[in-house]
Amino acid sequence: MRQYFAAKEAHPDCLMFCRIGDFYELFYEDAIIASRELQLTLTARDREKKQPMCGVPYHAVDQYIQRLLRKGYRIALCDQMEDPKLTKKLVRREVTRVLTPGTAVDAGLGAEQSNWLASVCMTGSGATACAGLALLDLSTGEFRATEFAGATAWAQLLDEVGRARPVEMLLAEGELAALEGGSQPMLRATAAKDGPPADSVADAAFEGVRTTTGLEDWVVTAEYAVPLLRRHFGVHSLDGMGLAGHDTAATAAGALVHYLQKTKQGGLEHIDAIRFYERTGCLVLDAVSVRNLELVEPLFAGESSQTTLFHTLDACCTPMGKRLLRATLLRPANDLAEIEARLDAVAEAAGDLPRREGLRRAMGGVLDMERLLGRVALDSAGPREVLALAATLACLPGAREAVRAFKAKRWRELGDDCPPSTEISTDSPGVRTNISTGLSKAGGEISTGFDALEDLHKLIVDTLVDEPPVSLADGGVIRAGVDAELDELRELGRSGRQALAAIEERERQRTGIGSLKVRFNSVFGYYLEVTKANSKSVPENYERKQTLVNAERFTTPELKEYETKILTAQERSGEIERRIFAELRRRLLDAAGRMRMTARRIAEIDLLACFAHLAALRGWVRPEVEVSGLLEFAAGRHPVVERRMEESGGGRFVPNSISLEAWLCESGDATSQVSEARPAAAASIALITGPNMGGKSTYLRQAALLVVMAQCGCFVPAERMRLGLVDRIYTRIGASDNVARGRSTFMVEMTETAAILNSATARSLVLLDEMGRGTATYDGLSLAWAAVEHLHEKIGARTLFATHYHELTLLEERLVRLKNLRVTAKETAGGIVFLHTVEMGAASKSYGIEVARLAGLPGNVIARAREVLKLHERAETQQVARALEAADAGSAQPMQMAMFTPLSQKIVDRLAAVDVDGLTPREALNLLAELQRELGAGS
Ligand code: ADP
Ligand code: MG
Repeated sequence: MRQYFAAKEAHPDCLMFCRIGDFYELFYEDAIIASRELQLTLTARDREKKQPMCGVPYHAVDQYIQRLLRKGYRIALCDQMEDPKLTKKLVRREVTRVLTPGTAVDAGLGAEQSNWLASVCMTGSGATACAGLALLDLSTGEFRATEFAGATAWAQLLDEVGRARPVEMLLAEGELAALEGGSQPMLRATAAKDGPPADSVADAAFEGVRTTTGLEDWVVTAEYAVPLLRRHFGVHSLDGMGLAGHDTAATAAGALVHYLQKTKQGGLEHIDAIRFYERTGCLVLDAVSVRNLELVEPLFAGESSQTTLFHTLDACCTPMGKRLLRATLLRPANDLAEIEARLDAVAEAAGDLPRREGLRRAMGGVLDMERLLGRVALDSAGPREVLALAATLACLPGAREAVRAFKAKRWRELGDDCPPSTEISTDSPGVRTNISTGLSKAGGEISTGFDALEDLHKLIVDTLVDEPPVSLADGGVIRAGVDAELDELRELGRSGRQALAAIEERERQRTGIGSLKVRFNSVFGYYLEVTKANSKSVPENYERKQTLVNAERFTTPELKEYETKILTAQERSGEIERRIFAELRRRLLDAAGRMRMTARRIAEIDLLACFAHLAALRGWVRPEVEVSGLLEFAAGRHPVVERRMEESGGGRFVPNSISLEAWLCESGDATSQVSEARPAAAASIALITGPNMGGKSTYLRQAALLVVMAQCGCFVPAERMRLGLVDRIYTRIGASDNVARGRSTFMVEMTETAAILNSATARSLVLLDEMGRGTATYDGLSLAWAAVEHLHEKIGARTLFATHYHELTLLEERLVRLKNLRVTAKETAGGIVFLHTVEMGAASKSYGIEVARLAGLPGNVIARAREVLKLHERAETQQVARALEAADAGSAQPMQMAMFTPLSQKIVDRLAAVDVDGLTPREALNLLAELQRELGAGS
């Protein structure tokens, strides 16, 4: 019993199944629970019946355990560690495994649903809160993690938990305490610690959660859990799993791994990767893609920003619109209703030139409200800035009227007095998103419709004069009629100055000095100035103040008196002006929230008007966005390259088409029927080959840019485009050197590729440009080959793969959903002309040699190169055909590297033909020497 108590102490929350002979016995409290739950007879260990106990036969224990797990209990198995026959003493027993609902791996699990074990990590609070969630199905090894940020992080997490419906939840003990709730095993969570998700939300989320398990608080920390996770996967960095910058998610995942280790779940090898996923209303673009696609910044710092999509699309009238365009390009929508709402609005405005121009004109005078407001807040705004703000506010009613001229739903929402419907539910229940980046995210404020801020405009123009001085200190900023005392003081000052003018006139007459002047400077105040020549005529009562080279300055008691009067009046009115200005500032800041809301509204209007303007100006078309796996466009153009070619007069951009369809069959959603109805051969992967400079990279980027534009709600440069929503774009383009981060280019490339292969979904768009270039040819080729197969078999995402590895074109025969495309070129007397057209088929191989010929390489080198190439081609085709046959026949023979090394083909053939048993050692040696010679000759 001592062993029992020790084990029980180590696992207080478990029912302890203790192996005794051919039975598993339970004691005390455990026995009572088990007898009740399993309808077992309760017996006792002792005569007084004070030590209840019950037991199950060891061979039937599984079935009892499953019943308890399904009810949410945790079970520890305490086994004999020694053979009872071999020891005379008490048999040593230890807990060998802890079974929990989330770690159950038995045949009794329903095949159609996952058995999720969830782990939660919360950091920060309020706006800086971050909630990480890791989900593991131990039965399949599917391991994924996600993260939510901001004030709603906890609610979003609950939402996601509700969607995944884990059977067991892991939480830090501190968190669990905060969660509070009913007793084990059924969790009835009530309040959350951040934000107040209604009880019902938490209840709904936790429905199905059979048990929650507290982990020591130190386990759920990045310091402990993240390195643990890295060790578990045996990687240096989690970046390749998409966890870069997602420490909270990684922590949750690490804590989960800790739990598995602690509960002694054997065989964790199948949990060899984790996938980071995001479920937001946005098309997710990671930093690599944003950079590679040059959405907002040129690829190479210092290059002209004209190469960016932002630059090409920026026809916004206001700075707010420009900022929103930028933000939108980084977070295109992934919500059909939202995209449609925008496209409807763009379509209407694009087709109505007078109204569109009216709207854009109305916004022409809108300055940077947000920034001006910022300056007001920082108290660095002078009277002129405040007036500029007023000028902007003055445009608002006109802009509102202009918006109201349109009928589309989004225009009505933007122009309306009533709150826009900011929350749009999508087809997939439970996924709620906010409209674009603006309005809806206004920190939960209730929108009051288009607030044209007329009161603030009136306030400013009623307070300030029309043309104020730059600085408040100069005075004369506040309009007459605002403050009675100020007006009075100003009157006083004015009459004072009039009096001075009168004095000047009188003194001129009295002294006969025509050039006598009353003047002012800040050191001496008011004085009478008389030129040296006239100083003899100065009367007695003048007091000399200062003598200059050409003039003398005097004062009189009368002058002094006026001086005091005027200066005090000025001082006092300065005070009053400052007070009034400060008051104005305060009132503007009080309305800062309203102004920001309106600024966001203006930004959205501006953005849509900009899209409409571009659509009309450039003849772009409305993309047909749908929930399918399609990506089709006809006569599509790369918006940036096309524009640049136009501007530089560099010819015409050659339009190209594409047609891909994601392989969604396994995703089990409604659209799978659609794809099943289509011919199975619809390609999801396009492999693009062709000569260097042929336009492969441009074609890839064009596809991604059109997708980004379409999901931003912008029209696209194509004759027609059909797009099934893309959840994420992955790119691996070019060799971006990242030596600064201490990783070689190839390492970077592989990390990026790993991120793609680990986290792309069937709805993603994957661009791979010249993958594998950073390493030895066969390495790179093999990796590329395997990656394409993985994308084809496991992911099904729409993929564009540009490559210089011709060998990959052979994949077309092997993979049903892969098709070869090539960029074309034409040889002319003057050299190769790149036609930039993309057509079906693999490229001819000899372009490289042709280019070399045209470049003037010696004739014999060219001839030899042709020879070698033929050799390669022939051997390769045979080899690969054979290898593929072998592979298809299910033979275990691996597709060796040899298939790519055709020069050794002859040798291989000979080796295969040799009858080893019939060789004498001498013959064997000769053969070896011969083969070696041949090898030498071949290379
Ligand atoms: P690759 O990746 O095949 O080497 P790129 O995509 O880098 O080729 O394109 C090479 C050049 O051809 C670029 O300067 C690009 O502007 C031009 N180009 C590419 N596609 C087109 C097209 N469809 N029409 C006109 N010019 C194009
Ligand atoms: Mg290229």
